[in-house]
Amino acid sequence: MEFAGISVEKGERKIVNIEIARLYDNTTMILPFEVIRGREDGPVVFISSALHGDELNGTETIRRLLEMDIFEHMKGTIIAVPIVNVYGFNTKSRYLPDRRDLNRSFPGGPEGSLASQLAHVFTTEIVDKCTHGIDLHTGAVNRSNLPQIRACFDAGDIVQAMAKDFGAPVTMDEPLREGSLREYCYSKNIPVILYEGGEALRYSEKAITYALDGIINVMTGLGMIEKLKSSHVQSNDTRRMIAASHWIRAPQSGLLVSDKKLGDMVEEGDVLGHMTDAFNHERAAIICSAKGIIIGATTTPLLNQGDATYHIAYYG
Ligand SMILES: [Zn+2]
Repeated sequence: MEFAGISVEKGERKIVNIEIARLYDNTTMILPFEVIRGREDGPVVFISSALHGDELNGTETIRRLLEMDIFEHMKGTIIAVPIVNVYGFNTKSRYLPDRRDLNRSFPGGPEGSLASQLAHVFTTEIVDKCTHGIDLHTGAVNRSNLPQIRACFDAGDIVQAMAKDFGAPVTMDEPLREGSLREYCYSKNIPVILYEGGEALRYSEKAITYALDGIINVMTGLGMIEKLKSSHVQSNDTRRMIAASHWIRAPQSGLLVSDKKLGDMVEEGDVLGHMTDAFNHERAAIICSAKGIIIGATTTPLLNQGDATYHIAYYG
């Protein structure tokens, strides 16, 4: 296999840096990744993180994966890309310098914006060479996500099998968003699943552990490695496949007093928390609108009327 003129042979692992663009100060923005090739042929899987530059759990997940002792007898190839949006990573930002969202900029092109150029290099140098992909994300700033897989079930059996093997507490059937990496992979018939866990700019041990176990499980399911003994993954009956979700909004501005947490099962009419103020005036209950599970929640109590409070996934 060859990446920007650098060849990686069977049984080798190499870090490759591809130049993307020049920044204002003439420093070079690069796309760094590690290619690990087994001695035997098999699936070629990209594992990407920090497409949104402030989402750090995936970067730490990949760092831990790379130090594991699982590649010696691996069949196939892992292309690990711990920081796709290097610019956003350095500036602790979701975006690129022009506020463009990389995950709405696919497939991109060599003449486009910085986000478009980065998307183009990432797809042509990495994604197009792969047979499968796992893309790691977190919630936004001040919003935390329960570990969950998002996948387009219509994309076929392989995507569904990868989602099931991953073993996250919740799997969501989510439509493809225009310009996203998932949409690009769908157009190229490359099965890809997206993982969400934790919040931006923070490490969440739970989110990292689930992600690492999930990647190992998918690699096992694809026949790349033997099953490991030390998996934390839940049994089938506690995993949930869910079709729809909905954010419940703050009924008034103020301070959130929360009664529920990520992963809690909720019923229609349940009180999830209250909006109040520092003197306990005007308490307004936040009411759950259907039976489901809390898959996302604000991590700040400071909310304006209409701000997102709890993200409820409903059973189909
Ligand atoms: Zn993201």
